[in-house]
Amino acid sequence: MITRREFLAVSSASLLVRAVGPGVEQRSGRPWYETMRRCGQLNLNERDPLSLDVRSWIDYWASLKLDALLLNGGGIVAFYPTDVPFHRRSEFLGSRDLFGELAAATKARGMRLVARMDCNYAYADALGAHPEWFERNRDGSPRPHGESPWLYKTCMFSPYFTEQMPAIYREIGARYPVDGFFTNGWPSTGDLTVCHCVNCQRVYRDVVGATPPDQTDATSAAYRKYYDVYMRRVLDVWRGWQAVVTEKRPDSVYVGNLGGGIRTVKNVKQLGEVARWFNADHQGRAGDTAIWDCAQQGRVARPVMRGRTITNVTGAYSNSRVTWRHVAKASAETTMWMAQTAASGMVPWFHWLGGAPEDTRWKETGQAFFAWLAAHEAHFRNTRSIADIAVLYPQRTIAFYRSGTRPRDWRGADRAQTADYLQGLYYALLEGRFLFDFVHEDDLDAQTLRPYRALLVPNAAYLSDGHCRRIRAYVAAGGSLLATFETSRYDEWGDVRPDFALADLFGASVAGDVAGPTGNSYMRIAGRHPVLVGFEGTSLLPGPEMRVPIRRSGADAPVDAPLTLVPYYPAFPPEMVFPRTPETREPVAIFRSAGRSRVAYFAGDIDRTFWRSGNTDLSALLQDAVRWVRGDDSPSVSLEGDGIVEAFAWETESGYALHILNYTNPNMTRGFFRRFYPIGPQRADVAVAAGRRIGSVRLLRAGRDVRFEQAGNRVRFTVPSVTDYEVAVLV
Ligand SMILES: [Zn+2]
Repeated sequence: MITRREFLAVSSASLLVRAVGPGVEQRSGRPWYETMRRCGQLNLNERDPLSLDVRSWIDYWASLKLDALLLNGGGIVAFYPTDVPFHRRSEFLGSRDLFGELAAATKARGMRLVARMDCNYAYADALGAHPEWFERNRDGSPRPHGESPWLYKTCMFSPYFTEQMPAIYREIGARYPVDGFFTNGWPSTGDLTVCHCVNCQRVYRDVVGATPPDQTDATSAAYRKYYDVYMRRVLDVWRGWQAVVTEKRPDSVYVGNLGGGIRTVKNVKQLGEVARWFNADHQGRAGDTAIWDCAQQGRVARPVMRGRTITNVTGAYSNSRVTWRHVAKASAETTMWMAQTAASGMVPWFHWLGGAPEDTRWKETGQAFFAWLAAHEAHFRNTRSIADIAVLYPQRTIAFYRSGTRPRDWRGADRAQTADYLQGLYYALLEGRFLFDFVHEDDLDAQTLRPYRALLVPNAAYLSDGHCRRIRAYVAAGGSLLATFETSRYDEWGDVRPDFALADLFGASVAGDVAGPTGNSYMRIAGRHPVLVGFEGTSLLPGPEMRVPIRRSGADAPVDAPLTLVPYYPAFPPEMVFPRTPETREPVAIFRSAGRSRVAYFAGDIDRTFWRSGNTDLSALLQDAVRWVRGDDSPSVSLEGDGIVEAFAWETESGYALHILNYTNPNMTRGFFRRFYPIGPQRADVAVAAGRRIGSVRLLRAGRDVRFEQAGNRVRFTVPSVTDYEVAVLV
């Protein structure tokens, strides 16, 4: 084990190394984890103490120029000779102190060390001695792990979280030079757990007043109360652990495990208020998940962390709908996941499982990307986004919404469907090459929204009166709005309102129950409007599957309703396929202008229907509506060229950076990327601060400068081609 004297010597040596690095002046005084840009993790298994070659592993991780390395401390299994009762030593530890060896070697190479812990399971001996530590089913039985049934699930409301885990943190903190602690699998952003242990029964009786339902169900009064109690417990445990790990080391940190991409139930805004570091355990995609899943994770986490560190894990192993822990996934897929992490403003965390890999192909993939990242570190220190469109992240709707398509026996929200509205809008924004940010629904104040010309709201059906008041204030101050379907129809828990809370903004009121789902209905182009200029050659557009019947309501501003309903008629057999009511006066979209504000409201779920159908007209209609609400002035950034890309534009500590991710690939929405398909010239036009003279535009992946023109605050240049990812930096 490393002595305290050695530890101090190593620490001050690494401080000296750091002190000569770039940009240290601005960053001095900030804790280490706020400025790290590269992170790695070797996830040990219980057998690893038999054979782990510490030196070669630390050589590998040092070659990635890591700021921080995560290594297993304990929790389920201790990788050091622990003295904490019921903290199980690895069966194969023998006389070895593997964590101690790794800790010394990590620090000797100037890397920060984070102890990777697991608070979620313990062994049968602990269950026998401390039955109150464990989750229980209704019948009182403990909950064994699905694949490793000799482990039992611990309960967050029990003293395991407030006594046992802190005892382990204190032991590790006292013995080893750790800079932080990370817990695998907790708290996550997914559904709440409902447990029936003695602690939880007490909470249900004394605080909630009832036993909550087993599944997410915001129609239940008990669930609503339990949600708040549960969030409070998560935040209390998080704060408590942060306090424990900083008892001796003020710059130490506790980091929990979040992630979940756009499908979150637990309130990420509240989690962001206690998290000093947000880790997204969002390691890869499966089945038909779209490639942009990782970039979306960055968009969800960034607004709640406001510049503080967000890491995103890249599983180098093959995690997909079928998981193989010990073979690498395709290098192109791994690279694109890390590229999305960096482009969206997160810090890559490269992850491998097991200390004796027979597949080592992943090593070079990580090395190549991290070396490139390290060489250009200054350009990844973002200070602000320069996007001018905001997308409301409708967390409560995604978590709780019961859409009209639910089957009769359906319980709880189906997040495979409640995220479809956002997903459809997102795809249209990528096709239209818009630059945008997410904003969290609980953070819609004037300061947050001021940089944006328009707020896009993909069916935020569940909004509180407060949410609606802030959206109204934004529009009154000159902001524009696009909203779809049932936005504001319900309160924050899903209780239906007599009308949209935002009826005054939409210029539309509810005129009946939600209709659908039906195919083969249409929107008739009944008038002229700038949103519809791209649709010459047709007077019909595909109709959404679901719609709220609406009537115009008493808006004082001019209202355009150039799209009207053509109701459903049979699609089969062909003899029967003719409209029974070819024309109606029922509007399906309302476009309004008031001063500088423009408001576009679509009564149908055109975003979700686009996502389900892939229909190009629906995407074009969404894009045209976004262009119209954004207004006639040039966007802050534009990017033209062939291919489907996702772009981010940041002001950085050294200038500006335009990130272009090339998604043009047959595997964009299904299966791993196998290789990249380069795209041709991309013409960029970027607004910089008034008076700022740009001296060069450099492409960090291509490794060369390109010609540019600056006229006033606009900088124009062409990126000749993009293979996987390009970052154009303007300094
Ligand atoms: Zn419990």
